[in-house]
Amino acid sequence: MKQMMAEVGIIGGSGIYDPSIFEDTRELNIDTPFGRPSDNVIIGRLGEREVAFISRHGKGHLYSPTKVNYRANIFALKKLGVKSIIGVCAVGSLKEEIKPLDIVIPDQIYDRTKYRKNTFFDDIVVHVGFAEPFCKRLSDKLYEATKKMGYRVRLGGTYLCIEGPQFSTKAESNVYRKLGFDIVGMTAIPEAKLAREAEICYATLATVTDYDVWKEEEVSVSEVVENVMKNAQAVKDILKEFIPLLAEGKCGCRDALKDAIVTDLSRIDSEKMKKLEILIGRYIK
Ligand SMILES: [Zn+2]
Repeated sequence: MKQMMAEVGIIGGSGIYDPSIFEDTRELNIDTPFGRPSDNVIIGRLGEREVAFISRHGKGHLYSPTKVNYRANIFALKKLGVKSIIGVCAVGSLKEEIKPLDIVIPDQIYDRTKYRKNTFFDDIVVHVGFAEPFCKRLSDKLYEATKKMGYRVRLGGTYLCIEGPQFSTKAESNVYRKLGFDIVGMTAIPEAKLAREAEICYATLATVTDYDVWKEEEVSVSEVVENVMKNAQAVKDILKEFIPLLAEGKCGCRDALKDAIVTDLSRIDSEKMKKLEILIGRYIK
């Protein structure tokens, strides 16, 4: 049987459980040394490209941001040969000028998560650079596609990642605003960290559902749900435009582990090494 491969990975967030923009879709049940991904991976074609899709919370929204098996999701995409991932996520706005239904492509993250496994490397020591958490090359292309489709979009900004599942208090929300953060969500960490460890380019397409609780404004649940639906349509439009635009280019993400592995790998037993082979195989002499 021909090995299934895909070049681009999409991780769909709230409201996006099925890409429905690909042709010739197949579902793959993939196992990883870190357990099962959130759902079967859907592979399909968009234009000339093979694209892999995972629903981050699983069909039926089974996993909270804390419970998502981020390691299995990223590892499964790595196993399929994915080189670039777009993480789609719903966020709240911390700034007046970032309005509901806007799209933000952030360039920084501030991590306030507490209970997540945020590395593949439990058995060896690896310090990857994370000063620039998102791939600039990928983010620029995403911005281009979003603008082309006529959506209000902002390139850059800080994504604050909270643990959840509860939303913030007003006190927290006001502090986050004072600190200058732009949007708040629950999933970019550890997804971006793991993608970097897997040497995969990663960018976030954040769709704004509403203002966070700092704004004294009554927003009904039905309005938020309506925005989630509108945003899901926007994401599909943008990805359809973006995927053919994507061209291979040079960026540091693909060599993130070069000089980052500190442990003398000859001292690690072969069982543990086998588990990591897909990630670090090319650095084993
Ligand atoms: Zn990159």
